[in-house]
Amino acid sequence: MTMRTRTLVSLLAVAVLGCAARNPAAPPAGAPSTTSPSPLDQAAERYVKLVLALGQHDSAYVDAYYGPEAWAEEAKASPAPLADIGTRAAALTQELEALPVPADDMLALRRRTLVRQLGALSTRVRMLSGEKLSFDDESVALYDARSPHKSEAEFQAVLAELERVVPGKGPLAARVDAFRKNFVIPKEKLDVVFRAAIDEARRRTLEHISLPEGETFTLEYVTNKPWSGYNWYKGNAKSLIQINTDLPIYVWRAIDLAAHEGYPGHHVYNALLEKHLVRERGWVEFSIYPLFSPQSLIAEGSANYGIAVAFPDAEAFARDVLFPLAGLDPKLAADYVRVEKLTAKLDYAGNEAARRYLDGAFTRDQARDWLVRYALMSPERATQRVTFFDAYRSYVINYNLGRDLVKGFVERQGGTEEQPARRWELFHDLLSSPRLPSDLR
Ligand SMILES: [Zn+2]
Repeated sequence: MTMRTRTLVSLLAVAVLGCAARNPAAPPAGAPSTTSPSPLDQAAERYVKLVLALGQHDSAYVDAYYGPEAWAEEAKASPAPLADIGTRAAALTQELEALPVPADDMLALRRRTLVRQLGALSTRVRMLSGEKLSFDDESVALYDARSPHKSEAEFQAVLAELERVVPGKGPLAARVDAFRKNFVIPKEKLDVVFRAAIDEARRRTLEHISLPEGETFTLEYVTNKPWSGYNWYKGNAKSLIQINTDLPIYVWRAIDLAAHEGYPGHHVYNALLEKHLVRERGWVEFSIYPLFSPQSLIAEGSANYGIAVAFPDAEAFARDVLFPLAGLDPKLAADYVRVEKLTAKLDYAGNEAARRYLDGAFTRDQARDWLVRYALMSPERATQRVTFFDAYRSYVINYNLGRDLVKGFVERQGGTEEQPARRWELFHDLLSSPRLPSDLR
């Protein structure tokens, strides 16, 4: 999912805590033949069933699922009360924590990730039961991360620089909006521009990451959505990528959406989790993706950092390839990209607006006005963003804080822009293993 300015479902197999009975559904091709399921395998099945059960109470919760269909039907046929789900999650967490920490690093990561994902599930049960959490408490409980607090003063320096470079007179936000209007992709050229961006993102990604045979995506244009892009993962390394055309799409966004929803973003992350963890290791817990969980910080953070990994030369690519395709003058690209890069430095203003609005310090209108003033959004986009805050609350931190945590994690290990091969390698490893946001610090 891309905030305006997301994944989904298909099928596979597993095992059960405490009873030897194996699920009749045949394990997918390549999944390890199982003797008796390990305690972690058994816990994983119970975890998947708990996420499915909670999904009956929260339609946005299960963002992707490609485990046994029978489990999904079971959850639907006999919905468990919220309190039961909470009790079962607490019991399973206790059992997992009582298990010895495996010597194998990947198994230790698996156990810790299961415990942390269950913690987020328990928090979501409490929220759906009416408990109110502050923005920061919620983000720590759901996404294992807390967004730094930023003051108006911290955005002033960037706004002052934009005052100097954006043409025109009057309020800066209106001038930025008017300036950007020169760089909207005409509707009739959207498809050719997006396809060029996605094809190039795919070409660059496949030079460094091998994906399952037959991996592919389909592209659709939709309207009337709270998000600007969404990846619906179909399983078997196939995605449906939807682009929302309600609002004008600027040429710079084509690279963002192509890399974020496609390559090396959500499509690649889902395909690698399916390949390396579900199919090769039989770890069924990765066949389900609970949206309000720490996995979303890794998903959104890596999808956003992936833009820089695949397009370190984004300005040149936009100027030389996308501008001509969109019928825009390449000579104007440098000034335009400078404005886009500067406004991107204001993206934590979005977290501030969300925090102050959701914690009751701002009214709806105040939050909208803050986004116009400090994030330089158009009033329409700011209004929409507040709607996004209502629907997804502290989820917003996963985009920018997630990106910065992933960036720090990769670059501290030598995966800098100057070391592209190393960067791709570390990025691939991150997408192919269980990781928690607290591991990235
Ligand atoms: Zn996303």
